[in-house]
Amino acid sequence: MDKKKVMVIGAGTMGNGIAHVFAQNGYMVHLVDIKQEFLDRAMNAISKNLDRQVKKEIITPAGKEAALARIDTETDFSAGKDAFLFVEAVPENADLKIDLFKKLDQTAGPDAILASNTSSISITELAAVTGRPEKVIGMHFMNPVPVMKLIEVIRGLSTSDATYRQIMEISKTLGKVPVEVHDYPGFIANRVLMPMINEAIFCLMEGVASEEAIDTVMKLGMNHPMGPLALADFIGLDVCLHILKVLHEGLGDPKYRPCPLLKKMVAAGHLGRKTGKGFYDYK
Ligand code: NAD
Repeated sequence: MDKKKVMVIGAGTMGNGIAHVFAQNGYMVHLVDIKQEFLDRAMNAISKNLDRQVKKEIITPAGKEAALARIDTETDFSAGKDAFLFVEAVPENADLKIDLFKKLDQTAGPDAILASNTSSISITELAAVTGRPEKVIGMHFMNPVPVMKLIEVIRGLSTSDATYRQIMEISKTLGKVPVEVHDYPGFIANRVLMPMINEAIFCLMEGVASEEAIDTVMKLGMNHPMGPLALADFIGLDVCLHILKVLHEGLGDPKYRPCPLLKKMVAAGHLGRKTGKGFYDYK
């Protein structure tokens, strides 16, 4: 097992960013997805994002090339047997992640740590399907990963202190600020953010103010860089609804009930920026 080798599983929005920051900070990265075309697209995105960092003089052109050379792409994860850390970033589907954690547990060396970038699935549940629950942990990176400093480090019920300490140290080597969080629905980021977004949607539904007015109050009054409705469009209204349901079911408190207007917009297929229409029009 090589302490400088990691495997990132899932090369989408988050996975390519996670591979990017590990490679940029000297780790060898095996990046895995189900199809080579998804891996090619991810390498393209990483290259463009590294170019942006070169332009801003965060890294040198040689640093960019060195980072790219540290990433290899694979369509199955047997190549990563020697990795000491596996970071899973496949879509937010509990069955898919459970199946993957069972397989990773079989493939990874006995001392390897298995981490998940999940936004809302219980780390304790993922850990329980492996034979190494003490070595399973959450590393909740923020989007866009190369830019955002925070990692919520989620301790499952069985995560050991040794695993937690190693992940805190590794996170710091990535230039990130890791924060310790225990495994409860929505962790911290989404548990605090989503009720604010939901309340903004209730204000809109009840006619308290317009979209622009609600967002302006939060931008100018609270110094938020984006208003909650514009942010919901950016995240995706389907993702917001899913996380609110997780909070509502997991914590059992009616204060997390998703706003009927949010449900209606998702039902209509108005999911925000990705569909061209949400609280604002992007066409
Ligand atoms: P995405 O859909 O952009 O990417 C997921 C990738 O996983 C795709 O390329 C897909 O082909 C691949 N994949 C699917 N099944 C696979 C398998 N069995 N093996 C390997 N690869 C597989 O998703 P995303 O937005 O990057 O989200 C990934 C995870 O990160 C989710 O758990 C999500 O909740 C979490 N997350 C997302 C954000 C965000 O802003 N997008 C922020 C924080 C956390």
